[in-house]
Amino acid sequence: MHNPGLRMKKSRFAGDIQVQFVKGVGPSLSKELAKLGIVSVKDLLYYFPYRYEDRRFFSKIKEIKADNSYYQFRAKVISVREKTGWQGRVGLVQALLSDETDSVVAVWFNQSYLVKLLSQGGEFIFYGKVHMDRRFGRQVVSPEVQVLKDENLISYGRIVPVYSLPGQKRLSQARMRKIMHNALDAYVDLVPDVLDRVKCKEVRQLLPVQEALWEIHFPSSEDAIKAARERFIFEEFFLFSMFIKRKKRASTRPKNRTYKEGNRVVDSYISSLPFEFTEAQRRAISEMSRDLLSRMPMRRLLQGDVGSGKTAVAFYLAAIVLGSGYKCAFMVPTEVLANQHYKKALEWFPSIPVYLLSSSLKGKRRRELLKKLASDEPCMVIGTHALIQPDVLINGLGLVIIDEQHRFGVKQRMALAEKAPDVDTLVMTATPIPRSLALTLYGDLDITVIDELPPGRQEVETLWITSDKRHRLYKFLRDQIAQGRQAYIVYPLISESDEANLLAAEQMYEVLRSEVFPDIEVGIVHGKMSDREKKRVMDLFYEGKIQILVATVVIEVGIDVPNATVMVIEHAERFGLSQLHQLRGRIGRGSHRSYCIVVSDTDNEDTRRRLGVFMNYKDGFRLSEADLVLRGPGQFLGERQHGPTEFNIGNPLTDFPLLLKAKRCADMAYRE
Ligand code: ADP
Ligand code: MG
Repeated sequence: MHNPGLRMKKSRFAGDIQVQFVKGVGPSLSKELAKLGIVSVKDLLYYFPYRYEDRRFFSKIKEIKADNSYYQFRAKVISVREKTGWQGRVGLVQALLSDETDSVVAVWFNQSYLVKLLSQGGEFIFYGKVHMDRRFGRQVVSPEVQVLKDENLISYGRIVPVYSLPGQKRLSQARMRKIMHNALDAYVDLVPDVLDRVKCKEVRQLLPVQEALWEIHFPSSEDAIKAARERFIFEEFFLFSMFIKRKKRASTRPKNRTYKEGNRVVDSYISSLPFEFTEAQRRAISEMSRDLLSRMPMRRLLQGDVGSGKTAVAFYLAAIVLGSGYKCAFMVPTEVLANQHYKKALEWFPSIPVYLLSSSLKGKRRRELLKKLASDEPCMVIGTHALIQPDVLINGLGLVIIDEQHRFGVKQRMALAEKAPDVDTLVMTATPIPRSLALTLYGDLDITVIDELPPGRQEVETLWITSDKRHRLYKFLRDQIAQGRQAYIVYPLISESDEANLLAAEQMYEVLRSEVFPDIEVGIVHGKMSDREKKRVMDLFYEGKIQILVATVVIEVGIDVPNATVMVIEHAERFGLSQLHQLRGRIGRGSHRSYCIVVSDTDNEDTRRRLGVFMNYKDGFRLSEADLVLRGPGQFLGERQHGPTEFNIGNPLTDFPLLLKAKRCADMAYRE
């Protein structure tokens, strides 16, 4: 219930006020907002737009060109009709709109409710893309419609925010804007300025928090967006730097454990390894075991390109710890990856108990495992974030290893280390980060790099084909499989209903299995399957009982099946460079020649350039540099850029100067 009296009494901080008290929200919409991670009013106000639309200017219909760009105009509706178009599948609403200068046709798909609204007469505001239709000429496609009433004008006549609202059916952009406007009106003064007491000149140049909140949601100009973003990026980096500082101070006490490198577990590990370490792996091991054997807890980031053999190095450190009578916890981002490491550990540590703690482990079996973790016995436990639940207590924990750390939030990463304050910590990543940046981001970590791939790797050949060549691709897959190899085919979506005109994993799996490769074992794995199902399919693929694995990006990180030599990426235009690189990293892991085949018909210039870069560069560092250049610095109407970490608004790569400033201020604030 909306009750201002109650609200006033309850609290004075936006962080303590539930979002349901915002005008226009209420209990049921607040559940939808919770799915976006928005619980308090502060969460809402800090839910920033990912781009903006410039709707400051109105056009006359006469001025509108069929040039595929967006126009905003006021118009009356002359006529509306509804018909069924395109094989009876799509409901089409068509309207003739006019102002004093000209008229134009607009169409909407599957939005029958508009008929009633538009036929009530009067003037509306429209905002949409205009293209050339073969039959109707100039045409506006699915424009947003607003009744010309004052209270609706939040979405018009200004620079308008666009929010990321994944999976939201009830919450439209227009509604979100209205809610945001209401929240700012009522609560902006209750947002405390966390930079208030920080005395640096950098901070004095930033917008105050209230002004910045208004400007980031409802900017008065392009420059204002820039200034507002700068404030919040700075704020985010500042808080992060403070967190790292506190962390570092807390961890500068000596640990009360000693390890022996010469031990039984290390010996048997070395003798069960099917290969020799590379020079780079040896160097990494010697650098890191020195840390382990010293008095201070180890804090290390191990960075190495996809396939460089980080796991084997991490297991060597684990062997030192296990053989000295302590436990080792290994945290990975996905169940599939946990299973893979679990199997390796069973093989490589025959004399040590190895456990898998997954979120599917429940009831009695989970309790039994927790009991073992609380005992004195040395063991290795591998798991996902299930490892950081509060009731998981690991007694005698010596070493924590975190794989693919960029997949975890800063908090998750730290939570595991907090289970034992002086624990040795190794985090691993394939995300190439320039050294100076890494030092700033992981201020509490030393860095080790593996800069060499294991020998005998065949360079992966990358090919780009258009979809009309798909039959030749299928023939090629058949040849590879006849030679005993295996293949992945990755799709951007799980199922077709999600988005039109895109091939999707489930439907293509049916087609491939029954029509294209009826004589070959085809499997499917995607994010909506249960963990048990995923594991069953992956096991069959590891064992070579499935030849072609249809998948979504669940297989993107860490999967290691050396016999797989073909990676087909359908709709490659839908993937970013680092995802493509991770996908390509799944092959070329054995001694067989491997092929990455991207299928894309895109004619978008930027996308073609991105795929071009992907074809030409194999090395993760070069790719990420090229990626930066392609995406350029933050743009006004552009997409949000994802950096190598999970910051909310800042991108440590493109906003590096701000990161440095924030760190300097945090250093000063901490000393005071
Ligand atoms: P990543 O660094 O991407 O995590 P992995 O640890 O998964 O790489 O290793 C990739 C593959 O290379 C695995 O199959 C692993 O067993 C193998 N491997 C690791 N080190 C060596 C080595 N020194 N010689 C040969 N193969 C190796
Ligand atoms: Mg790995």
